[in-house]
Amino acid sequence: MLLGRMMNFPLTVTHFLRRAKDYFPGSEIVSRATDKSLHRSTYSAFYGRACRLANALKKLGVKQGDRVATLCWNHQPHLEAYFGVPAMGAVVHTLNLRLHPSEIGYIANHAEDKVVIVDRSLLPLFEKFAETVRSIEKVIVVGDPHSQAPVSGAYLDYETLLAAEPDTFDFPNLDENAAAMICYTSGTTGNPKGVVYSHRSTVLHALVASLPDELGVRQADTVLPVVPMFHAAAWGLPYMAVGAGAKIVFPGPHLDPASLLDLMAAEKATIAGGVPTIWIGILALLDKDPKKWDLSSIRAMVIGGSAAPATMIEGFQTRHGLEVLHAWGMTETNPLGTVARVKHHLTKLSAEDQLRVRATQGYAAPFVEVRHTDDSGNVLPWNGESMGELEVRGPWVAASYFGGEGSDKFTADGWFKTGDVVTIDKEGYVKITDRAKDVIKSGGEWISSVALENALMSHPAVLEAAVFAAKHAKWDERPVAAIVLKEGQTATKEDLTTHIESRFAKFWLPEDYVFLNQIPRTSTGKFLKSKLRDEHGEILLKK
Ligand code: AMP
Repeated sequence: MLLGRMMNFPLTVTHFLRRAKDYFPGSEIVSRATDKSLHRSTYSAFYGRACRLANALKKLGVKQGDRVATLCWNHQPHLEAYFGVPAMGAVVHTLNLRLHPSEIGYIANHAEDKVVIVDRSLLPLFEKFAETVRSIEKVIVVGDPHSQAPVSGAYLDYETLLAAEPDTFDFPNLDENAAAMICYTSGTTGNPKGVVYSHRSTVLHALVASLPDELGVRQADTVLPVVPMFHAAAWGLPYMAVGAGAKIVFPGPHLDPASLLDLMAAEKATIAGGVPTIWIGILALLDKDPKKWDLSSIRAMVIGGSAAPATMIEGFQTRHGLEVLHAWGMTETNPLGTVARVKHHLTKLSAEDQLRVRATQGYAAPFVEVRHTDDSGNVLPWNGESMGELEVRGPWVAASYFGGEGSDKFTADGWFKTGDVVTIDKEGYVKITDRAKDVIKSGGEWISSVALENALMSHPAVLEAAVFAAKHAKWDERPVAAIVLKEGQTATKEDLTTHIESRFAKFWLPEDYVFLNQIPRTSTGKFLKSKLRDEHGEILLKK
């Protein structure tokens, strides 16, 4: 073999950080505080502060490979940890503040976090589990003008620590395969599992996800990550934005639709990313008051984390001229896997057919490979009909979990089993029909809850629909739909069935409906169907 003669230059987050200072010192970072005041900074200041953080952590005894946890909302200090911690050789571990304190404690213990950077407003939460985490040596508190939580003498103040340090740091030469970040899965089945991103996976992911046919992030953009930085690296948006030199806007804890719309309009966001539940609320508000916000700067609203209903994609586009980009990913895939861009030759399709394409989870990004398999592990054809479990592989797909748990998720021939049940069409578009644990098997046949939800959400009175498996004496399981109606609207069970019945085989139609004020959610905003099954799973048996 003749080897190539090119430099073996490591792909590290440190390069992005240096580039930010050298090429884009004036790019802006805007963070919204708890009192809604806006804090403005620049990449130049951000670089200096990331260096100060690295110096401070070093002084506190943080060594290469040590875990530095964050328990923070989306804001600039969190970004400083995203870069300063990995660049000094340590590993940033983002704790999910929406989990139960005992779960956060379990995760912090499992990762053996040594230092924790915590928002002052989140100290009451931190104190609920802190004592259970044996490995924590230091706690650094990020100040907050409005939060009056008591800060005891044992805590270190983030700003005081940074102020005492120089704004340069002699960053080590790192192996690109060194760990950069740990994110835990949300653990709806079993304990949460740690996914350890490397510098290489983080950088490759950011580069590819920034491509024009993926999320398309460029220097002129203003990126607003609504998706929390404690969930799957905020989809890599912070790394993409800094890599490109784009302006970044952080919403802090203000994630209600009106606050987000105010921020998007005021800061002229061009790309914003978040889960469907956020966007459902935003769409409802825009429908009510379509003239209030000038959103003409928006190029793409990236929606992922759960299926974006076709009616929502269409509603944004036809009623408000806003482009939705539907994407799929997982904590285990750093996280982007597929994006629903309409391939050029498919733009000849009717608007309705194109909408169908955009409502799929999309086709795989470069270097992500996908296949789907049946229960016996046979690879299925890409015919848009065969349903099977999605498997993925690629340079930013987990090869194992931290601590070696969950080894059954990795196949002997090198693929990761996603737990998503999908079809793949001949163009490679992946369509999720269910989570494997949520599938509805009625009389031995699979029914797609996602397809039913999409259809139900196209009824004008329906705000949200989640279809789950209820036990049935004869058919084993039957679909039941949990419905949240829009404010002031009504619809009966019969209305809903009439609305969708022409689109499905009769046995697919929901056997019953439950009307709720809210669909229970996971810590990351997905419908929590296990709770629906626990609470309403036996309604058909009781009839
Ligand atoms: P997490 O690791 O918490 O981000 O969850 C990953 C899971 O979220 C995936 O395995 C899917 O079940 C679901 N998911 C992510 N994106 C989408 C999407 N666009 N449509 C449907 N489900 C999605």
